[in-house]
Amino acid sequence: MNHFDVAIIGMGPAGSMAALLLESYGMRVLCIDKEKDIYNLPRAVTVSDQGFRMSQLAGIDDIYLKNSTILGGAYFSDKNLEIIGGSIDLKGFVSANGWPASSLFHQPYTDRDIRNKLENSNVEIILEHEFISLDQKKESVSFKTINLNNQEEKDFTSRYLIGSDGGSSVVRKQLGISQEDLNYNRDWVVIDVELNEPDKLGDKLIQVCDKERLATFVPSHLPFRRWEFIIHEHEDKESFLDDKTIHELIDKWLKPEEYKIIRKAVYQFHSVIAKNFQKGNCFLIGDAAHQAPPFMGEGMMSGYRDAVNLSWKIAASIKNKLNTNLVDSFETERIPHSRFVVKNSAGIGELMEAYAEAETPEEVSQDLVQKGYGSFILPNLTKGLFFGGKADESMNAGEIFPQPVKYYNQEVVKRMDHILGKNFSLISKSPLEISEDHYEFLDLIECKLVILEKKYIEKNPWMKSFMEKDRAFLVRPDRYIFGSTNSNISIDMLINDLKMRIMNS
Ligand SMILES: Cc1cc2nc3c(=O)[nH]c(=O)nc-3n(C[C@H](O)[C@H](O)[C@H](O)COP(=O)(O)OP(=O)(O)OC[C@H]3O[C@@H](n4cnc5c(N)ncnc54)[C@H](O)[C@@H]3O)c2cc1C
Repeated sequence: MNHFDVAIIGMGPAGSMAALLLESYGMRVLCIDKEKDIYNLPRAVTVSDQGFRMSQLAGIDDIYLKNSTILGGAYFSDKNLEIIGGSIDLKGFVSANGWPASSLFHQPYTDRDIRNKLENSNVEIILEHEFISLDQKKESVSFKTINLNNQEEKDFTSRYLIGSDGGSSVVRKQLGISQEDLNYNRDWVVIDVELNEPDKLGDKLIQVCDKERLATFVPSHLPFRRWEFIIHEHEDKESFLDDKTIHELIDKWLKPEEYKIIRKAVYQFHSVIAKNFQKGNCFLIGDAAHQAPPFMGEGMMSGYRDAVNLSWKIAASIKNKLNTNLVDSFETERIPHSRFVVKNSAGIGELMEAYAEAETPEEVSQDLVQKGYGSFILPNLTKGLFFGGKADESMNAGEIFPQPVKYYNQEVVKRMDHILGKNFSLISKSPLEISEDHYEFLDLIECKLVILEKKYIEKNPWMKSFMEKDRAFLVRPDRYIFGSTNSNISIDMLINDLKMRIMNS
């Protein structure tokens, strides 16, 4: 039978994450990809604290853990690699998500393991088939693919379709969704090397603000190291893939005998965002929806956020026959957040250019400095599926609820998100008095009532500040807070508001 709950076009990081999550919610999922194997050019290299937490939801945190190293810090430097600004030391820092701020991973290893996990799941996978067209009905999507080996066309239908088919998305084109260009379009060469010698380059990421050539050094998961260099408009892009040119570029750091070039590619770094992330029963996620230059290391993270935001909504609406507000909130929530990532990633590139042009770092405008450094603090969600329809700061709505963790000698030794479950959770310090009328609804959405033990509150500074007052938090499956109780909002009002928003009347 060629009908599925969800069809996912594109099995890159965003599509794979969505597939694993949807399958974990019991959805019948089809994944289509035109390639036979995983992508093998140098791309994502950092995974954030939230990225790690999202990978817990999909059961792939151990894959990242096994193949990653914690990033020690970052700074902007002059051409001699002397610090000129923005130095951050990340050693020992653990965020509210329960993970280090940023870790470096080797994508061929993680993508391989994630693909294996998918192949061993109930997700139906069809490779070497290209998606070519779609047609929407009120409650389904029919679409066509072509087998790239024998040119045979095949028809499928699904309740929902997710386009995770990357920057040149055919799904986006088929849906007639245009993109907004936020005007950072520059060519860069990206080089991954494997060290032949023990590492002497340190664990800090460096944004090199050299007027002659901007560059980024990334202390990837050992024994790998990454460099990125801008290519000027008048230069021949292809020549930057020449080993001799690469050796000259890296010469400031290492001599050719000290490393092997393992992967190299020229990319145009874009900053674009689709005007819509949804049309009817079809959604765009990942690079199909937004592309950011990699300076913040947040492009794939943004794709993961899309996948996480959308998957539980699709699953809950199909399983529980909820109204369309639930899936419609995906676009409302994700567009402003991913726009921030695209805009601010370009901000770091612009700041590098400004530092490179300036005689002294102090000359650089504070606006640019704020835009560049401020970009690392991601915003909360503002509008969408929250109490009252918008994220009210006084209720911490739109913020991420901290992960319960176990500490030993001030170090996190166990992450405990599983106690919140995979669906909604109501979290408090003491038992809640909930009206009996709400139990049927809470059961339907499989909401977990969690009374947090003292040991998860007292030692965790993030949790402590949330649980200080005797409030109850209604937390969504993606760990964003729907709302919390206060002197004006009772627990029954909180539940009732959610019910009103997602149940069919
Ligand atoms: C140099 C560089 C460094 C980066 N570093 C980071 C980083 O450190 N951290 C980070 O978070 N992000 C980073 N990014 C961004 C990140 O790599 C991308 O955002 C991410 O790979 C996008 O994933 P995706 O799944 O949306 O798309 P893709 O990975 O592009 O996957 C799309 C998939 O769709 C398939 N496909 C396309 N068209 C069709 C079709 N018609 N039919 C069937 N299948 C199709 C393709 O074969 C592919 O498998 C970096 C990007 C670059 C270029």
